[in-house]
Amino acid sequence: MSKTSEERSLLVLENYIGGKFVSCRSYIDSYDPSTGEVYCKVPDSGKEEVDAAVAAAKEAFPEWSACSPEQRAKILHKLADLIEANLEEFAQAESKDQGKTITAARTVDIPRAAYNFRFFSTSMLHHTTDCSPMDHMGCLNYTVRCPVGVAGLISPWNLPLYLLTWKIAPAIAAGNTVVAKPSEMTSVTAWMLCKLMQQAGVPPGVVNVVFGSGPRAGDALVSHPEVPLISFTGSTATAQRITERSAPYCKKLSLELGGKNPAIIFADADLDQCIETTVRSSFLNQGEVCLCTSRIYVERSIYSAFLERFVAAAKKWKTGVPSDPSSKNGALISKEHLEKVRSYIALAKSEGGIIHCGEGLDKLDLPQRNKSGYFMPTTVITGISDSSRVMQEEIFGPVTCISPFDTEDEAVARGNGVRYGLSATVWSKDVGKVHRVAQQLQAGLVWTNCWLVRDLNLPFGGMKNSGVGREGGKDSYHFFTEVKSITIKH
Ligand code: NAD
Repeated sequence: MSKTSEERSLLVLENYIGGKFVSCRSYIDSYDPSTGEVYCKVPDSGKEEVDAAVAAAKEAFPEWSACSPEQRAKILHKLADLIEANLEEFAQAESKDQGKTITAARTVDIPRAAYNFRFFSTSMLHHTTDCSPMDHMGCLNYTVRCPVGVAGLISPWNLPLYLLTWKIAPAIAAGNTVVAKPSEMTSVTAWMLCKLMQQAGVPPGVVNVVFGSGPRAGDALVSHPEVPLISFTGSTATAQRITERSAPYCKKLSLELGGKNPAIIFADADLDQCIETTVRSSFLNQGEVCLCTSRIYVERSIYSAFLERFVAAAKKWKTGVPSDPSSKNGALISKEHLEKVRSYIALAKSEGGIIHCGEGLDKLDLPQRNKSGYFMPTTVITGISDSSRVMQEEIFGPVTCISPFDTEDEAVARGNGVRYGLSATVWSKDVGKVHRVAQQLQAGLVWTNCWLVRDLNLPFGGMKNSGVGREGGKDSYHFFTEVKSITIKH
């Protein structure tokens, strides 16, 4: 059947299985969020494609896992080099596919994707295992760590290549082979990465990428009996489903989930630095970062001054066309997501909340071709009760709520008063206070007087409904390997 000219101009992705690009029987439309137009077709894979990918990964496992860590490290370094060499092409693609600004893609997403390979290629070389002698028994005990087998990796749409490589890099560096399923809404850079796999010399079958939806391709991967390990980043609701579906196989799970992250700002904070950083932590990447601040608690004595300055700074955080270097925010991921985020503003209004800027107040100045894009201005809300859904649920958009507090204990209790526990920020010049509060906050990551400073050696992950397990230098090594205790009697 001959293709129409519209079909010819669309980007059509293919699965990457056993080192080969393979087309699929059906496809999913993928939209350019900045225009609302379909521009790409993503394979709508199901069980058949996942089975083929798992078979390829299984076949590649014995040889790959038997390579020396140094041999694997060399290939990971090569991948990092290749991503860096193609940085601009990847950044353009990520920005178009996700709606994020070209600046964010150039300075955050793609450099970090390269660094993920660089970091894990070397960190994997430096782990040691335990040894514990029992001389009175004539025994020596020690541990060994082995790769687990075929790792199933499922990633979300907000930081597409960044989060996918955060999983692929440690999985293969530790000697596993993988089947990855990126988000069906942002699959393009994962497909581009497959081309680099060939160039870097990743043997066929070591990395397989199957594109498609969660309920079809994702579910087939999660419930595949020969995939003993799943690393998932996404929403808490999907994680619950994955936990159920993988339970019959007792799979090893790492779940990196949503957040409703508080910032606690004391009166003695350096307000210049705090406001600049908290505007960024609230709105970076359209607020579509799991670590974004969405509840800001401010000590009452500085509340009015803080609010005024924060709203003024939020208004300056320009939302515009992603390709414009002066845009700080681009478009949200989809029409459905934009509507969902907007519904929280309507809810806040209906509950008596005050909208200080953004949705409904500030009009965006967009070119004609972007009028149907999924844009929303940065929005600041006050006057909402902590029990409101606006303060309890993850909105995942350019929206933040501000509220005053009176005491340190109150700030901690309110900070902890949600089902999530991913990250938090604390602002104060009082070192003792900072330590006390950080210690009490129920969050996997606490930043004080800063935000998003990441040392990949340290554990990353959430408490409560924000996740199960940790990833990062030693933690990823532990997750992507099985430990065995061996006792030798002499
Ligand atoms: P999502 O849960 O809808 O989807 C994530 C991935 O899971 C996608 O690839 C999707 O196709 C797949 N999926 C969906 N249903 C599935 C199923 N039944 N079985 C298997 N796979 C399935 O999440 P999203 O909307 O893509 O991402 C946004 C969410 O991710 C937010 O909640 C955000 O906080 C979270 N997130 C967390 C972190 C973290 O590190 N903690 C990082 C980024 C994003």
